[in-house]
Amino acid sequence: MREPTFRPPEAVDQHSVGCAACEAALRSPSRDSLSFLVLGRFTVPLVGCDDHAERFGSVCNLAADGDVSLLTHRPAGGITCPGCRRAPQRVQQPVVPVGDGQLAVLACPDHRSELVGQFGAGLRARHHLDASLDAF
Ligand SMILES: [Zn+2]
Ligand SMILES: [Zn+2]
Repeated sequence: MREPTFRPPEAVDQHSVGCAACEAALRSPSRDSLSFLVLGRFTVPLVGCDDHAERFGSVCNLAADGDVSLLTHRPAGGITCPGCRRAPQRVQQPVVPVGDGQLAVLACPDHRSELVGQFGAGLRARHHLDASLDAF
């Protein structure tokens, strides 16, 4: 399995999606390609394949003490933030590279940067973990 790499969303080349399932989901988002990442008190819809959405969630979890969960259906409480609720209606969505895939984060700028920060922290935590395992 390849390691997820992290780059700021604005540095992403739109044509470099290595995962066909993510690319298809990003090109024509449907209900099936939506996942919902529940991070503490807010919920952010993600577009991408299930595999990469799951990886994104598990990396976020590394830095979140286990209060991140990924849902494949809209949560019962809905999306609490009005900005996030409106975000899927915008045409251009920033994407976050996850390994060889890409996910669109359908959130307001505040929650998007919180989520991307969480993902970055998770990657650093895992890097740290890998590095300490290497020492044995
Ligand atoms: Zn994918
Ligand atoms: Zn929001």
